[in-house]
Amino acid sequence: MNGAARGLVFGCLAVAAATGCVVQGPVEVEALVADGQGSMERGVTTLQTVTDLYAGTGSEFDVVGGLMLTFDFVFTTMTTGDYTYPQMVEEGRRGARNALNLRLSANPLTGVYESEDFDTFLYLTVFSNVEKAWAFFRDDLGDDSGATQDHGLVGLYGSQVLSSLLPVPITPGNDNAAYVSIGDVFYTLRVHDQEGIPLAMSQGVIAHEFGHRIFFHNVIVDNAFEAWKTIFANVEVDQQNPQAATQQNSRGQIIMRGLDEGLADVFAVSMVGTGHFTEDSFIDSASSLTGGWSDQAAFRDLEGDFATFVTFEQMQDDVDNDLPFQCGRIPAVGEEIDGLANEVFNPYCLGVLLARTVYEAAGRSPEVMRRDFAPRILPALQETGRRVAAESAAQEVFKFEPEYLLDAIAQQLAADDRASFCAVVKDRFSSLTSAGVIPTCP
Ligand SMILES: [Zn+2]
Repeated sequence: MNGAARGLVFGCLAVAAATGCVVQGPVEVEALVADGQGSMERGVTTLQTVTDLYAGTGSEFDVVGGLMLTFDFVFTTMTTGDYTYPQMVEEGRRGARNALNLRLSANPLTGVYESEDFDTFLYLTVFSNVEKAWAFFRDDLGDDSGATQDHGLVGLYGSQVLSSLLPVPITPGNDNAAYVSIGDVFYTLRVHDQEGIPLAMSQGVIAHEFGHRIFFHNVIVDNAFEAWKTIFANVEVDQQNPQAATQQNSRGQIIMRGLDEGLADVFAVSMVGTGHFTEDSFIDSASSLTGGWSDQAAFRDLEGDFATFVTFEQMQDDVDNDLPFQCGRIPAVGEEIDGLANEVFNPYCLGVLLARTVYEAAGRSPEVMRRDFAPRILPALQETGRRVAAESAAQEVFKFEPEYLLDAIAQQLAADDRASFCAVVKDRFSSLTSAGVIPTCP
C-alpha cells in the first residue's frame, strides 16, 4: 500500500462512524488465507471487489447475515413448474436476511482491517474465498456463464431449508457451506464440532460450492432448465409431513447430483492443488457431537481406498464395503422409487468416482488437472446441457446419464489426455463402454 492509499484509510478510520465513510477495494484485511500447500493460515489478503466493507457489498456479490428460502414458493410454484429462471432466483432470494453487525477496524500501524470477533473474521475469510474462487473460474478456467456474470449473494448463517425438496439439507446445526440453485445463493453455516479448518472458511470448500454454481449455470440452462423443473413437479408433497414426500423418475436427478458433486471436487482440487482438499477440515475429535469426520475425510480423499477401487457397476448393486457409510443403489432406468432421491443413493459416492476418474486420467496431478482438464470441462458442461434437454424432451422425463458428461468431456480433451481419460473410463464405467454409449471412448 502506498502512502496516499494509507492516508486515505486512516482518514476514513478517523471519521468512519460520523460520516458513514465507505471502505472499498482494494483493501487489505486479516483473514484465513491459503498457505499454498492445501491448508489455510491466518494472514493478510487484499479484497479487490468490495464496494462497502462494512455493508458487505461488492461489485460481484453481496454478503448478508442469514438468509431463508421462501417455503411457499417451493411448495406451490415449483411443483407446478410455472416459473422462469429469473423468477426462481428472485423468489429464492426473497427470504429474511439480517444486518451483518460487524466488529471491524483498521489497525492504526498497518492499515489492515482486523476483526474483533469470530463472526467478522469468518466474514472477511468468506469474502476473500468467494472472490478468489470467482477469479479462478472466470480468469483461469475461462467461464463466461451466469456463474461468473450474474451478481451473487452469500448468506452467512443461513436459516433452515426444507431438506425433502432441496438438493442440500441445511439447518443452523450443520457445520458446512452450500450452494442452492433456487435463489442462486451461497450459504455458510456455523462452526461447531469438527475442530479442523471450519468448512465455511476453507478455500477448497468454497471452490467446491462455487463449482456447483458453475455446473448449474452451464448445464441447467435454456431447454435443460425446462426439463430440470420436472424434478419438482414429480414430487408428491404431503404438506402435513413434508419429509414423507415421494418422488418419481428420480434416476436423472440422482445421476446429476453425483456428477455435480464429482466435478465440484475436480474444481476444488484444481484450485487448491491437493487431492485431499478437505483433509484439514475433517478432523475427528473426542468432543465431536456427531463424530465421523475422519470417515468423511477418508471417503472424500481421492487417494483413499474408496476412490481407488470404486466402480460405477458397484453402484447399480447395493454397495457392500468396509467404510461406515452406505452408498445405496442407483435406481434402474424407469424404476420407481419409494422415497426421495437423497434417501436411496448417496450422491457423493458417484461424485468421488467421477473425481477420481478425472484425477487418475490427469496422472493424479492437481496441476495437470487444473491446466489440461478443468478448462475443457466447461464446454463439455454446455454440451451436456444440450444433451439433457434433447433426451429429456424425447422421453418426457428429466434424463441425465453419466455418458452424456463422460462423452462430452472426452470430446473436449486433447488427444493424449483423451486416451488417458478413456482408459480410466473403460475401467471404472465398464458397463457403459461395453454398451457403446460413450462413442468417443470406443
Ligand atoms: Zn457439493
